[in-house]
Amino acid sequence: MARRRLSQLQKNRIRQAQDAISANDENYIEGLVISHHGGKIVVEIVDMGSIECQVRSNLGTIVCGDRVTCENTTANEYRVVAIGPRHNFLQRLDGFGQPKSVAANISQLLICLAVKPEPNLFLLDQYLVSAEQQDINAVIILNKIDLLAEQEEDPFCLESIYTPLGYSVLSISVESGHGMDRLASVFDNNSSVLSGVSGVGKSSITKALLPDEQIKIADISEANEEGRHTTRTSRLYHLANNGQLIDTPGIRGFNPLLDRNKPLGDGFREIHHFAAECRFNNCRHHNEPDCAVRSAVTRGEIADSRYQNYLKMLTD
Ligand code: GDP
Ligand code: ZN
Repeated sequence: MARRRLSQLQKNRIRQAQDAISANDENYIEGLVISHHGGKIVVEIVDMGSIECQVRSNLGTIVCGDRVTCENTTANEYRVVAIGPRHNFLQRLDGFGQPKSVAANISQLLICLAVKPEPNLFLLDQYLVSAEQQDINAVIILNKIDLLAEQEEDPFCLESIYTPLGYSVLSISVESGHGMDRLASVFDNNSSVLSGVSGVGKSSITKALLPDEQIKIADISEANEEGRHTTRTSRLYHLANNGQLIDTPGIRGFNPLLDRNKPLGDGFREIHHFAAECRFNNCRHHNEPDCAVRSAVTRGEIADSRYQNYLKMLTD
């Protein structure tokens, strides 16, 4: 059944009802959404542990990382009745081009790439734009470096392109353990989401960070070297040093959602930098005259792949 759209009036009413809930009322408690699968939501409450909750209809999508208010109903069951203000809300596009929620209140997007399947820099740039637009720190991880021949340094030009832009690029191997200590510290004091296409090793990283959890690792067939699709529940895990990891189902072609209402160029740090010098304020850096961005590409000060990916996103 299609979800009914709420009118502004209904939204206002719901908002007023939510505002009316007093935090001091003992029938209401606040907590953090740590698991979400279909209609089931698990909320973690300080000093009380985790409770499974129903959700009041018309509340909208709830995702891991949401802070919610739960009502203790008569049968000693809990029901989520309000969602707290969100600092941000990460969304992706599903296979039908529709937005799907991923997580809320995150501070860091870890974009996981691997030596195999080979990195797709267009998808990486889409993730980076999405992170820039939502003011989320992005970190690039290259996993499976055990598969590289020893002399191969920066084989996909990740460090040469992205480090000068201010992004951290971490080369790791879950298999050999290389870089895993450094990776673990990236999670400290952050609420992170691991994203990337199937088969790059997201579950393996999660399992390495949380050895006691049951985390499914996909078998990769030798024949096609592509990750198998595994659907899991979205979960929020607590890590050492106040870190949180939100693990969302690893769906192939996990496409980030770009906000078309924001200038695309602002999602590319270097394009944003040079755009200030363009002749026109609203320059799209495509075929306008006196475009400082295109001049920078010609001078080699903007990587060609970044500019081409920008144009592709602009015209897609
Ligand atoms: P996900 O789909 O991103 O969650 O990927 P998985 O964690 O399920 O891993 C996909 C495949 O890659 C599995 O067969 C893993 O054993 C393998 N894998 C994960 N990390 C490494 C690594 O560092 N080196 C190698 N060679 N294989 C790895
Ligand atoms: Zn321009």
